Amino acid sequence: MLGWQDQRFWFITGTQFLYGEETLRQVEAHARTMVDGLNAGGRLPATLEMRGLVRTNAEFTGLVREANADPACAGIVVWCHTFSPSKMWINGFAALTKPYCHLHTQFNRTIPNEEIDMDYMNLNQAAHADREHGFIAARMRLPRRVIVGFWEDEPVQAKLGGWMRSAFGAAVSRQLKVMRFGDNMREVAVTEGDKVEAQIQFGWQVNTTPVGALVDEMEAVGEAEIEACLAEYRSLYDFATDNLEAVRYQALLEVAMRRIFEREGISAYTNTFEDLYGLRQLPGLASQNLMRQGYGYGGEGDWKVAAMTHIIKRMGEGRPGGTAFMEDYTYDLTPGRELSLGAHMLEVCPTLAAGRPRIEVHPLGIGGREDPARLVFEGPAGPALLCSVIDMGGRFRMIVHEIELVRPPLSMPNLPVARVMWRPEPDLYTGTECWILAGGAHHSVLTTQVSGRELEDFAEIMGIEFVKISRESCPERLKQELLLADLVWKLR
Ligand code: MN
Repeated sequence: MLGWQDQRFWFITGTQFLYGEETLRQVEAHARTMVDGLNAGGRLPATLEMRGLVRTNAEFTGLVREANADPACAGIVVWCHTFSPSKMWINGFAALTKPYCHLHTQFNRTIPNEEIDMDYMNLNQAAHADREHGFIAARMRLPRRVIVGFWEDEPVQAKLGGWMRSAFGAAVSRQLKVMRFGDNMREVAVTEGDKVEAQIQFGWQVNTTPVGALVDEMEAVGEAEIEACLAEYRSLYDFATDNLEAVRYQALLEVAMRRIFEREGISAYTNTFEDLYGLRQLPGLASQNLMRQGYGYGGEGDWKVAAMTHIIKRMGEGRPGGTAFMEDYTYDLTPGRELSLGAHMLEVCPTLAAGRPRIEVHPLGIGGREDPARLVFEGPAGPALLCSVIDMGGRFRMIVHEIELVRPPLSMPNLPVARVMWRPEPDLYTGTECWILAGGAHHSVLTTQVSGRELEDFAEIMGIEFVKISRESCPERLKQELLLADLVWKLR
């Protein structure tokens, strides 16, 4: 699996030969100081690597060829300390396949009153140079993130770190393998989609495996593996059931699935209650504990949400909070306190648990199998996002909704599944009107670990449409935006 520790971001400093060797020495020393300072700031999730100065077309083109070919290079960050004419960047940019961030900063925070002269101006002219640099990216319609601010400041470093997460998500996406146990739930539209187009656009290898292969794998699982898995359940969860056989069966399911995933390099998977041939329970606790370990999951064959669950988990690695496969289920429409209740039949990731989850065993009304063990818990409070990717026919659209998680005001003692409650922005009625207008699915990824801007940058890197629903959203305006966007995307 691709790890953060393997990833580097290349810091490239634009300049030219015009100002003489002494200036170039200073440019290099300043760039090195900035790279060291940015790495030492503790806000970047991966190492920024000094990759020298770009003084000619050939230098940049050569660097881009190297970056494209290097699996450890997750993206390039460019800054122009001195003027660096942009025609010499065109050939490299035309070949670039890695994510690109333009960091518009300058070496000194302030203008030194006594020291400033024309030599100083020629060295410290990012305000001038980065405009020339920005033009060519605009002219070439390059996907890019522009970050503006003084490099020592926390918000700038945090933005750069956030963009690194988007770029890392793109790298994860481009080698992601999704396993589908069986097909999609019959007759459901939003979980369908063009898997060939998804592989072209996102890199996802989405393929099916018969449930029978899982049944066969379960027969090969040994006692010791099941016991190790049960020991982990005991360390993480409270047992609130006497039906230990049902819990044991989930451990068997988990071990067998993990064996298949590790053997085949799978990071996300789906299943459906309509295709459980040879299984005694629908995986519940098993899927929940696999999600906790970072696997993406989608119910009812929803491979798009499975892939995005994994990608967003990887983007958010190292941050507190959680990321989970989620489903809008039912509402509380009490005036002034309108809330959505999110859950699933079983499979909500325990990274969202506000306390220690309980293992319970209850009947499942659908699927016609034995009572499955599952984790039951309440979600936390605080800001979060929902993310849905839908197939619009010819393109993918990502919809991101800002929400405020609230601790459930009701105890719901007879609800046998994990539950999370939230107030969508700007309010339940307006926000949901926007979500439905945009075509947002009933399945989504709920995350408290990744920002809307980070998902927007991810969508831009992947070349897909992005729609955000926030505090400022208004259905009338959104309708116009969707109409115009539809025309634009059809022309692309
Ligand atoms: Mn569902």
